[in-house]
Amino acid sequence: MSSNFAFDAIDLATKDRDHLIHPWVDLGTVKEREPLIVAQAEGAYVYNVHGKKLLDGIGGMWCVNAGYGRDEIADAMAAQARRMAYFSPFGQIGNPPAIEFAHRLTQHTPGDLKHVFFTTGGSTAVDSALRFVSFFNNFHGRPKKKHIITREYAYHGSTYLTASVSGKPADRGNMDLETGFIHHLPAPNPYRRPEGMTMEAFCDAKVKDLEDKILELGPDNVACFIAEPLLASGGVIVPPEGYQKRTREVCRQYDVIYISDEVVTGFGRLGHIFASKNVFDIEPDIITSAKGLTSGYVPLGAMIVSDRLYSTLTDKAGRGQIFANGYTYSAHPVSCAAGMANLDIFEREDICGHVRKVGPYFREQLGTLIDLDMVGDVRGSHFMVCVECTADKEKKTVPPAEWEVGRRIFEKCQEKGLLARPMGHLVVLSPPLIVNRGQIDDAVSILRQSIVEVTGDLA
Ligand code: PLP
Repeated sequence: MSSNFAFDAIDLATKDRDHLIHPWVDLGTVKEREPLIVAQAEGAYVYNVHGKKLLDGIGGMWCVNAGYGRDEIADAMAAQARRMAYFSPFGQIGNPPAIEFAHRLTQHTPGDLKHVFFTTGGSTAVDSALRFVSFFNNFHGRPKKKHIITREYAYHGSTYLTASVSGKPADRGNMDLETGFIHHLPAPNPYRRPEGMTMEAFCDAKVKDLEDKILELGPDNVACFIAEPLLASGGVIVPPEGYQKRTREVCRQYDVIYISDEVVTGFGRLGHIFASKNVFDIEPDIITSAKGLTSGYVPLGAMIVSDRLYSTLTDKAGRGQIFANGYTYSAHPVSCAAGMANLDIFEREDICGHVRKVGPYFREQLGTLIDLDMVGDVRGSHFMVCVECTADKEKKTVPPAEWEVGRRIFEKCQEKGLLARPMGHLVVLSPPLIVNRGQIDDAVSILRQSIVEVTGDLA
């Protein structure tokens, strides 16, 4: 990688502040802070606009699963763009990459999840899933089944509906959200379970939360339960063992559709293309996917629906009932060509096998940070791990926001060559899935050193 960068960093920073609005940005600090501008990338590394090399500890945004600089994906996109960049997916118009990719995906899905609706990303995949559920229930003459059950600290997207079913407290303050038919259960976060409660009892309690809510609302009024297998953006919350399977069973018992949001947990992050069946032994009614689906090379999402649901809509009784949901760029041929090239890499290089082998090492090494005074919890699995900082280890006290613990650690890590993701007092690591043990050691040692320094600075 050339260090001779042809970028004018000052000019770019000025234009960035003046013209580019970023997602999740603190608007009040935009003018005074220096943006991080990332200009090039290769393998597991990115280079900022000054040419500084940084180990990408966050995988872009949990998405560059196959790593950067994959010519195979770029070539597949270019070839498809030249052959046919775009055509409408509406009605019954198809294109070869979308058809082939849908077929190939269903070789990896659990049970009878055999029907794929492509979207433009994770939010639109989840939005489509929730709209599909309402279509399904209305179609079958169950218009009262409207209520959606979700969890605090969930993250499902940034459309009006998906933001409403999300439950991260920090995101819920400043914009209006739908509340009437959406219900948030407490997060199944073992770190915050009542003092002295066993994991088994905690699991019982969290499963009971779901059952109680269904009974309170009345099963005839509940449409679906939506859950990330591990809650990703809410702080890599790992529910107690058996929780996913038991909540799935509760949904089946009360005829509530179970949506497994695998936007993060899919495509190898937990060592399998889809984690629902292989890691948690569940067959959901619907899976949503995005991010690693194309390793972030181009936007794409997918809602994957079971035959049990879908086949009831496609017989003649359904004539005239239009599934009025979709996007100009649904099933985009260039995105689907990228998706197939990405899947080729996954299969040929056995990326999931690598994650199953090296992921536990990553988790274990990060786990050693628990000896630091400021670290209250290290949690996660394989290549999604979170370090929770605390002001008092015994009492598990959340550090005051003005300490800006996450941001300080992020800055220290960056100085030392690692990109980590700060979320309040949490620091998340979710690197590209190709990282090796040496790179893991580098990441852990930089993070350790950074936390030690921030602890000193705050003393
Ligand atoms: N679902 C989950 C679990 C996510 O983590 C995200 C994004 O982080 C989304 C949905 C939304 O995906 P996107 O940002 O591609 O719209």
